[in-house]
Amino acid sequence: MRIGFIGLGNMGGPMAANLLKAGFDLSVFDLSAAAVQAAVAQGAKAVASPAELAGADVEAIITMLPAAAHVKQVYLGADGLLANVQPGVLLIDSSTIDPHSAREVSAAAQAHGNPMLDAPVSGGTAGAAAGTLTFMVGGEAADFEHARPVLAAMGKNIVHCGGAGNGQVAKVANNLLLGISMIGVAEAMSLGVKLGMDAEVLAGIINTSSGRCWSSEVNNPLTGAPAARGYSGGFGTDLMLKDLGLASEAARQVRQPVLLGALAQQLFQAFSNQGNGQLDFSAIVKLYQEG
Ligand code: NAD
Repeated sequence: MRIGFIGLGNMGGPMAANLLKAGFDLSVFDLSAAAVQAAVAQGAKAVASPAELAGADVEAIITMLPAAAHVKQVYLGADGLLANVQPGVLLIDSSTIDPHSAREVSAAAQAHGNPMLDAPVSGGTAGAAAGTLTFMVGGEAADFEHARPVLAAMGKNIVHCGGAGNGQVAKVANNLLLGISMIGVAEAMSLGVKLGMDAEVLAGIINTSSGRCWSSEVNNPLTGAPAARGYSGGFGTDLMLKDLGLASEAARQVRQPVLLGALAQQLFQAFSNQGNGQLDFSAIVKLYQEG
């Protein structure tokens, strides 16, 4: 199958590499020449623009871009995909964006005769490299089945979440909870240690008790792997801040209160403003530490 891929960053680069490893014929575009070069070195063909990619003989196009503004530019821009792509080509956007924007781009694609799926991922850069991402997919069931073998080359958990935009809905709801739960674990762990408990013992108790969650077990802010390496790498505070912003904006649009989400967003914002935006988001525990 011939596939086009736009957005070869921290996530898109390794995802494209896995498509090449699985034997797909890949044409790629990114604003970064170095990112394109890296994909070409692994067997991809370079094209000069989204318009050229759309005009190439591809059956599906995947995008993995930073935010909604980039997605709209690449799909809806005068030189973008929809202005140039053949009807029938399957479009898959794996960027994390708000559900409203995903539905807007999907409607424009459908109107042009192109099936479209929103397929955001979780699993981070490690999951992208290992080909073990979770794909949360919104769109028509038949289009989902068509895309499944392509997504299976990059992920291991591929879930149809319903109609257009519902992949982004799942992603936003999950990461809203993740941001809140991380702060909850940071607070509980900090209190336990302040009251004289050993962090490892406390984490062990929580992780075999009712407080257990991903933030306590896999990415514990005091005893987890990011903490052991000074919170470098991992899922950055600014990425969490972006996702909480998407959640609060999506909530505003449907007048749904997200009380703890709003507080979590403010705490991560304050923490980022202190120069911590690149640290793993579990470093938020520093807000509870003295000095
Ligand atoms: P990134 O910034 O590393 O990569 C984005 C790439 O898009 C860059 O190579 C950039 O040059 C390219 N790009 C930007 N505008 C473009 C345009 N108009 N045309 C072509 N290329 C363009 O970002 P990332 O970490 O790979 O994240 C991509 C998406 O995945 C984001 O929406 C992010 O929220 C989401 N995500 C990231 C992670 C993670 O851990 N990094 C995890 C899950 C989801």
